[in-house]
Amino acid sequence: MSFETSIRTLDLQVTDVIEFRRAGAGRQQRVHAVINGTELTQLWHGAVGRWAAPIWSSVLGPSLEWWGPNGKPPPAALSEWVPVGYAPVLTCRCGDFACGGALAQIRFDRRLVIWANFKTAKFEKDVPLGPFIFGRRAYEVARDAS
Ligand SMILES: [Zn+2]
Repeated sequence: MSFETSIRTLDLQVTDVIEFRRAGAGRQQRVHAVINGTELTQLWHGAVGRWAAPIWSSVLGPSLEWWGPNGKPPPAALSEWVPVGYAPVLTCRCGDFACGGALAQIRFDRRLVIWANFKTAKFEKDVPLGPFIFGRRAYEVARDAS
């Protein structure tokens, strides 16, 4: 496979949800990452054998800052679970990231954005998923549109 043909599309869809369970109680927004037309939750399920849920937009920060070129220092509640250089990409279906969330390294270069080294929140095993390579311009458009 050539390098060019390995570039994926990324769509980011933000949905409003009313969350009743403890960890995310209240009105929230989830950020759905859709890679080449397939929800990341589904790709994750295929790789790990269990389901996770789209991440809360409040975790990523304004303008999905954590998925941007400068990342974001993990808030105290997540610092134990998200090492420097990683970003949360999915949360557990119960709403508690540490329980069953997913993270990845997000790297930027001039033309590309790469999501790689997917891990479970507890780093319990290697996850055979990605890397996913996006054109940087299209990636920024998707972030701006969400
Ligand atoms: Zn859970």
